Amino acid sequence: MTDAETLAKRVREDDLRLHELEDHAEPDVAAEARRLLLEAETDADLETVGEYGFDAADAEANIENMIGAAQVPMGVCGPVGIDGGAADGEYYLPLATTEGALLASVNRGLSVIDSAGGATARVTKSGMTRAPVFRVDGVAEAAETVEWVEDNFETLREAAESTTSHGELLGVEPYVVGDSVYLRFAYDTKDAMGMNMATIATGAACDVVEEETPASLVALSGNLCSDKKPAAVNAVEGRGRSVTADVVIPGEIVEERLHTTAEGIAEANTRKNLIGSAKAGSLGFNAHAANVVGAAFLATGQDEAQVVEGANAITTMDTREGEDRATDLYASVSLASLEVGTVGGGTKLPTQAEALEVMGLRGGGDPAGANADALAEVIAVGALAGELSLLAALSSRHLASAHEELGR
Ligand code: NAP
Repeated sequence: MTDAETLAKRVREDDLRLHELEDHAEPDVAAEARRLLLEAETDADLETVGEYGFDAADAEANIENMIGAAQVPMGVCGPVGIDGGAADGEYYLPLATTEGALLASVNRGLSVIDSAGGATARVTKSGMTRAPVFRVDGVAEAAETVEWVEDNFETLREAAESTTSHGELLGVEPYVVGDSVYLRFAYDTKDAMGMNMATIATGAACDVVEEETPASLVALSGNLCSDKKPAAVNAVEGRGRSVTADVVIPGEIVEERLHTTAEGIAEANTRKNLIGSAKAGSLGFNAHAANVVGAAFLATGQDEAQVVEGANAITTMDTREGEDRATDLYASVSLASLEVGTVGGGTKLPTQAEALEVMGLRGGGDPAGANADALAEVIAVGALAGELSLLAALSSRHLASAHEELGR
């Protein structure tokens, strides 16, 4: 084993390459060597990047060429009561962000939701997808391939599930475009986000498709999955968890705590989130669901690139006849494709695992899948809180200016 200075010198002398350092030293020493090298070659001072509170060895599966850690501040919101399909009780929501005021806003929303008796949340669909693309001669072979796939689901299921003890193949949806055949495999991945699991399982199923049909695999991912790209297929069919949260807030609470009215919030939602988004050609019909999804993903070790589809949400706000003099507010957020897990990926990194512990959702659930379902429900309630708080702020400002203009 070699010290960091010697390693950095050997890289500078082209005796070693940056990615080879772990072959010659412990991961923490390798990371230090890269910092020394960068500090010598650039004007950067990497003292803070090098002050991380875990062993670099714990992150070996998550990063290559490690130099340290990007430390994003983490805060907490809540607690909020959730009546979920999996979540049940009071939950704190840890969020990591650099956006000041985000947690204050989400916390205000959660506090209002809690005062209204808590939110209801349910995962209504679950399925991580992988869609390989195959080449065929033309439409006749495409139809032959699709027919075989439809007649042989059990064979495909056996092949796919032979690679995992947790994953279950739920279905295979074929799509044909000329001489290309796409098979969209969907899996119940239990508590894992499941992208590695689904990819490995689909690889095994593709071998069978190639043996039994005229189709040749071109790519294990044919982009109809659709991973980390904004895509209508995820918004319509769902990917990962499709999860909805809702709440009815008594009119008096809307007035006292949010300083506006149910009618005001509902109008702001319709004109901004629905009509404005439609005019913009947006895939998302919400105010800022990405803020909560992104911050929750960073805090809990989710794959942050999947915020692209995770934040694909529709927010609805309607008036409901209230028991008191003021009209009540019905509010909901539906996230079509929230890809989350409580095992695997970044969830086992030390700070991320601790954040999951704050929610009582670290590791596998009982039954398997229950923890990831609960995490999806808590994030959905957080997104609902963010929507409520922002729409209330917009609507109360409007009310305030209207009052000003009217001189009362
Ligand atoms: P993973 O860390 O590769 O695997 C999780 C594994 O945990 C499962 O395969 C399963 O093993 C095991 N496991 C233990 N208890 C479990 C439980 N209660 N429920 C479910 N599984 C349990 O994670 P992943 O979720 O499949 O994939 C996430 C990673 O994939 C992230 O790091 C992400 O960045 C990366 N990613 C990969 C691709 C890709 O194309 N490969 C694309 C995007 C992202 P068994 O299967 O043996 O049962």
